[in-house]
Amino acid sequence: MRHKERLEFHWDANNEGLIWSEDGHPLQGLTGGGERIEWIIPDEWRDGKEHLFYIEMACNGMFGNGNGDTIAPPATDRYFTLTKAQITAVNLQARALFYDFWIIGDAAREFPSDSWESHQANMVANAIMDKFIAGNGSQESIIEARKIARQYLGDKVDSAGVYDTDTTPIVYGIGHCHIDTCWLWPWAETKRKVARSWSNQCDLMDRYPEHRFTCSQAQQFKWLKEYYPSVFDRVKRWVKKGKFQPIGGSWVEHDTNLPSGESLVRQFLYGQRFFESHFGERCSTFWLPDTFGYSTQIPQISRLAGMNRFFTQKLSWNNINNFPHTTFQWVALDGSQVMCHMAPSETYTASAHFGDVKRSVSQHKSMDQDNTSLLVFGKGDGGGGPTFEHLEKLRRCRGLSDKIGSLPRVKMGESVDDFFARLEKKAAEGTQFTTWYGELYFELHRGTYTTQANNKRNNRKSEFLLRDLEYLATLASLSDTKGTYKYPKKNIDDMWEGVLLCQFHDCLPGSSIEMCYDDSDELYAKIFETGQKAREEALEVLGLAGGDAEGRLVAINTLPWHREEIVQIPDSLTTGNCPKYIMASGETGIIQCQDVSSEHITPVRVSEIEPGVFTMENGKLKVKIHNGAITSLYDIEADREVIVKDGKAGQLVIFDDKPLYWQAWDVEVFHLDSRKELPPFKTFITHVGPHRGSVVVETMIGEKSWVKTTISLSAAVGSQQSYVEMESEVEWHETMKFLKVEFPVDITNTEASYETQYGIIRRPTHYNTSWDMAKFEVCCHKWADLSEYGYGVSILNDSKYGFATCGNLMRLSLLRAPKAPDAHADMGRHTIRYAILPHIGPLDHRTVRAGYNFNAPLVLQQAPTSALDCDDVFKSISLSGSPSLVLDVIKRGEDDQDVSRGELPVRHGKSVILRVYESLGGKSRGCISSTLPVKKVCKCNILEDDEDEVSIVRNEQGGGVRAEIELRAFEVATFRLQL
Ligand SMILES: [Zn+2]
Repeated sequence: MRHKERLEFHWDANNEGLIWSEDGHPLQGLTGGGERIEWIIPDEWRDGKEHLFYIEMACNGMFGNGNGDTIAPPATDRYFTLTKAQITAVNLQARALFYDFWIIGDAAREFPSDSWESHQANMVANAIMDKFIAGNGSQESIIEARKIARQYLGDKVDSAGVYDTDTTPIVYGIGHCHIDTCWLWPWAETKRKVARSWSNQCDLMDRYPEHRFTCSQAQQFKWLKEYYPSVFDRVKRWVKKGKFQPIGGSWVEHDTNLPSGESLVRQFLYGQRFFESHFGERCSTFWLPDTFGYSTQIPQISRLAGMNRFFTQKLSWNNINNFPHTTFQWVALDGSQVMCHMAPSETYTASAHFGDVKRSVSQHKSMDQDNTSLLVFGKGDGGGGPTFEHLEKLRRCRGLSDKIGSLPRVKMGESVDDFFARLEKKAAEGTQFTTWYGELYFELHRGTYTTQANNKRNNRKSEFLLRDLEYLATLASLSDTKGTYKYPKKNIDDMWEGVLLCQFHDCLPGSSIEMCYDDSDELYAKIFETGQKAREEALEVLGLAGGDAEGRLVAINTLPWHREEIVQIPDSLTTGNCPKYIMASGETGIIQCQDVSSEHITPVRVSEIEPGVFTMENGKLKVKIHNGAITSLYDIEADREVIVKDGKAGQLVIFDDKPLYWQAWDVEVFHLDSRKELPPFKTFITHVGPHRGSVVVETMIGEKSWVKTTISLSAAVGSQQSYVEMESEVEWHETMKFLKVEFPVDITNTEASYETQYGIIRRPTHYNTSWDMAKFEVCCHKWADLSEYGYGVSILNDSKYGFATCGNLMRLSLLRAPKAPDAHADMGRHTIRYAILPHIGPLDHRTVRAGYNFNAPLVLQQAPTSALDCDDVFKSISLSGSPSLVLDVIKRGEDDQDVSRGELPVRHGKSVILRVYESLGGKSRGCISSTLPVKKVCKCNILEDDEDEVSIVRNEQGGGVRAEIELRAFEVATFRLQL
């Protein structure tokens, strides 16, 4: 056997595996179940001596461990049986003939039956069979049969030389392995999948010179570096040769519906910095084949991260309308555009079949502009990426195209960037690609705005915590005169990397197994712990920590605007009959508290006017609660009723939620037909004023499920619009039900507005067309709004993302109860806050700010008596001007001398990064002011590369500078203040 031309070790236990060398290096992955079961035995081992290698076996198949069905929760009692363990001597000519015959057979079946190409394929295939049978399968007959195959495939299919002809290809093949960072397996298994899959690809590159493999997700590269350094080094060598091609520029292939604007920025900042520091180059294509929706700001944010190109695929899964383009320009809210391509073969895990190549043309919808396309092939998620079979088939497809024609000519050996560069060149030369404006709404997986509520809540909370921490740590690092405080870059990096990881497209959307959420709960707990500790340390440097008993009650306002709110006094700071609430009022920085007797305040009054009917009034709003719902919300100043006649706001409703298949993912339009109102069980007053009035509504859902909603109105403060706040405590133990809360409002508009990353997206409130109807459930961030001329209503929330507005009925989605792939998704206790904010006039900055305020409640603390002296530091950086401009983030420069962790070259001196966006959709001007010793101000991209210098004016008195800025509608602008 030692003298046979190819010896392979075949191993199949139906599970994934990894072959290790005797000295502990991973060599190649195995998939199991008949897929990738072979490992080529090295030629040096033909020496007759004993050789040792190890096989690590995983307790899962390619798609986790579900019993019977792919998305069934993992079975803990599943066993894997070894069915094959043998050394095989492979007849390489016979194997080659097998692929020759396969492709010719495909041509016979898949070319039109009335075409000469189909007839000839039949004749050639018959001739091959006749020769093989007549020769009794002898080696000679195999060689002869292969000669016949050349009549159809040409004579170059045995090498990469098949691609070296002067004919023009139109389908560009690129190997890929879509590895879900978690899904039907936890992160721990993903780390192993990465090592298995990528070592396979390095091995294939040794054998197939035309092979090119692209893969994304900096997090996976980082894991590989940490846990499998020798594989990482091997990958790095192939990256250098241009064959292993990192792509995407993001930390993970994240969801784009739910993360905040800043989170999307950090996906790219952390991703691109990793790629640049490890491979010397940033990515130029944003790669997101699998995602459950496409934020309208993606083109802007990815351009700001140096990526003008976008590849995706999932949109082809739309369940209502067929998306009409495959190559097009996608335009963001602010007008930025990227070149977008969706592989016409409609998959990012193609098997490189004849049919995939054929569909690259037959399903190409943008042929009028350009006939080229990408063919993204390779098994994902434990399949280990492309196999030698894929590469063999593609060689034959190309040979066939050159010899016979008809099949689109496929090419291997280039990169995704080469593909896009050609499209860009064409666009520059005048080809008008079709343009798509705004959201690429994905007409499927609409349940993912709601599933796994706790995880989504943690995402929102950690985004706000990081915002707070970076701001305070920046101030602390700049004001520390002792030189002992260091900007907590490592803590911040660890926290962001955790948050970004949890935004993976099966994690945050809620489509993973229970184990993944055990992992993410643990990670979030660590993020909160690290963040709170680091925040305390920053406060200490700022002189705001550890209040003394005489210290005044203060709150720290880290939002960039004046706040004036009735705030609860923590139990630890109140005694006996002391008031439980107080008014806090002030600018950014330290906010002082005032007694509620101030003239500025109109107290709230609550009464039960007849049994079960309650009213609350604060001089601005008058609320009537009947049968547990708000039957009237009267805006006294506007002199108008907000709730539609006979409507019930705050009414809890429940729906049957039985999707056709993808339980955690999908909610189908027909669920709306099963609407049931949940009647109240008990309603009573808990707070009677004067600061806050509250009525509690208790509702039973089922035997074990209930909701306790506290409806509150605070005393009215100054000229601010009041809102009705609701806090629902839910004990949830349902099966395939959907809980929502309704707000039927007396407003007329065919469009509603929803907050998205750095802006507003408008969607229909009707089902005129199938495209309108498809948006029966949509994503929002901190608020949704329905406004008409002169008046509107915003619904705020503190942790929710699913919403629907149909006619004048606004509906916030609260909880779902899918049973797959997590059998216990969302079971247990939840606390959800939301509010009705009516407003005179159009949707404007009041709602934008209320959304922030609602998510960042002021927390009272007893500050040291000296605290008020510290307020100046908060005035050191500020933004004034149009209220539509939001100063969203203040942080230190990534590569500042005193901040850098050394990944990329250090930049001398200190700098402060400001992220500002235009939130309402119109060109706006503002002024950045700073009392810091600012040398210059630069507008930069989100990777913090300086672009244009902004002229600054130095204040004559007291030092400090001002810089005038102007942003276009929904623009995200980053400014670097060099100190
Ligand atoms: Zn995926």
